[in-house]
Formats: sequence, C-alpha cells, structure tokens
Amino acid sequence: MRPSFQPRLINDPFSDPGLYIPFLYEKRTLLFDFGQLHSLSTRDLLKITHVFVTHTHMDHFIGFDTLLRVFLGREKELHIFGPSGFFAHVEGKLAGYTWNLVFEYETNFILKVTEVYPEKTLTRIYVCKDRFEPQGQQIEEPFAGILWEEPSFYVEGAILDHRIPCLGLSLVENFYVNIIKEGLKELGLQVGPWLNRFKKALYEKKDPSDEFRVTWEKGGTVIDERKFVLGELANKIASISPGRKVTYITDVIGSPENYEKVINLANKADYLFIEAAFLDRDKDIAQKKYHLTAREAGELARMSDVKHYTLFHFSPRYTDMAEEIEKEAREAAKKQGSEDS
Ligand SMILES: [Zn+2]
Ligand SMILES: [Zn+2]
Repeated sequence: MRPSFQPRLINDPFSDPGLYIPFLYEKRTLLFDFGQLHSLSTRDLLKITHVFVTHTHMDHFIGFDTLLRVFLGREKELHIFGPSGFFAHVEGKLAGYTWNLVFEYETNFILKVTEVYPEKTLTRIYVCKDRFEPQGQQIEEPFAGILWEEPSFYVEGAILDHRIPCLGLSLVENFYVNIIKEGLKELGLQVGPWLNRFKKALYEKKDPSDEFRVTWEKGGTVIDERKFVLGELANKIASISPGRKVTYITDVIGSPENYEKVINLANKADYLFIEAAFLDRDKDIAQKKYHLTAREAGELARMSDVKHYTLFHFSPRYTDMAEEIEKEAREAAKKQGSEDS
C-alpha cells in the first residue's frame, strides 16, 4: 500500500537540515525547516504551502530567500511558523530587499507568519503588493500543541530547548484512504482528478448519503459524468487504514526535559527524523552546543517506540565517519531488545 505522503531530507546528513513532505495525491508539500533549498526544483518549491521552522539559526532558515524568490510575482499563499522572535527574523529578511516595483504585479502573493509561544500563537499577514508591510492587527490564538489542522492531518509542535526555543514537529495523518483498483475496474471507472475530490469528501466526513459525481475530463473540461451515493461508492472502491506519523527533531540538548517532550511528540511515529550532531565521545561539546549525540538519538528512537528512524545534521568534524554515527545510534536504539532500522 502506498503511503499518502513521502517525507525526504532535502540534503545529505552533513548539509543543511530540512524535510520535504509531499502529499502524493495532491500537488502540495509541507516543509520542516528552511536549510539550503538548492536540491529542489522550482516545480518542487512551488508545491510548498506551509513551512515549519524549528529555529532561525542560519542553517535552518537561509532557504527562506530561495522560496520567496520563486513565489514572487505569483498568485500564492505561503504560511510559515517559527518560535518566539520569528516576526523580527522574517521582517529583517524582508527589509533586506527593495520593494518599489511590487505594486505593479497583477498577481497577489500573501505571506502568513505565525510565532509560537508555550500557550498562544500570534499571526501576522504580509502582502507582497503592499511591500510586505504587516496588514492590520496580529491575530492571537490559544496554542495547546496543534499548529495546523486540516481534515486529513494535523501538525503538532513542542517547544524544546536549544538554549533558545526550538520547535519539535510531528505531522499526523488522521486516517488513510486506499483506493481498491479492482473496485474501480468492476464499476468501469478510471483513475482521474475526481479521486482527489472523493478522498477529500471522506476526509471531511461528508454525509455518506450525499451524491458524488465521478467525472471524465479532457484538458481540464468535464466530458462525461456518473452519479453515485458517496457511502456506496466508498464501500466499493475505498479501504480505510490508520494514518501515518512523521516526527522531526533537531538542534536540542539531551536534557531530561527535552527527552520527555521528544518522547511524547514522537510516540509511535512511523518515521522519526532526528539529529545526531555529535558522537558520544564528544558529549561535552554536544552539551555546550545544545545538540544531541548519536547515542541519544538512538535512545530517543527506542524510548519513543518509532518504526523507523533517520539520522541527520552530522557535525562536519565527522566527515567520512557517517557509519560510526549510524552504528552508535543503532546500538542505543537496539538495547533492551527493541528493533529499529
Ligand atoms: Zn541551531
Ligand atoms: Zn542546526
């Protein structure tokens, strides 16, 4: 069975962090962290709708400019999230360029920015045409762990300690709709854009007695259609399975407080992406720099009971020693009989 999203790191583990999470059945992507984005094509970048930034150290935030450059002059909305102080960093970047010509664009690019605090979020809206001046009043909302929610998934955040606040992130899919090919065949239906509409109707928990139209399209125009009852169609062509969870943890000290928060956030994740900046023999440096060691990363994978984990954000001091880092984490992950890959 194909998963509905397929997370991948944007760079090798010695380069800037970032996790690109495309949704296979929609032309859209979430991004965790803004490291250098040069490995992504303009096409890949244009699919990004939401970016969650753990913190604004340069290696996690430099890609903001690349994305802004690609979005400029297009009809787009981009929503980015970051920890306290985020507005100042975004506004500082925006202030770095001259915007005297943007009012001439026929398209509108809107940038939404949300700053995350332990118990609230603040959101400001910047409109390209208005030279990215913040619009109106900032919006304050209570925050209890959920940063963003849609019918099919939500993104959870925890504020971790990197000597500065740093967000830990989980993408949690509510459930997964799998399309049964034989069911389509039996009904004489073809795969097409209507399947996205169909899945959306299920994710939005539409009334099963609602009418649903399966359409045949040519060049974006509907050329034929058949009417079904949503629930009856779902019984024939869809199977529902539990959704997946992806957790992303980077730039955190291995303190008891962080351990507790990470284990909560990553609990039973299908995929854990976790930094392993240092080897255990350099733990004193890791502690000074507020980073995890490979041993701690493996330990956290085991304690969070995740299915798979992937290490990244290795310190350049270990160039050519990636295997040693992997081995250290693997041993820590396997202790007490647990199996991880
Ligand atoms: Zn950092
Ligand atoms: Zn970093």
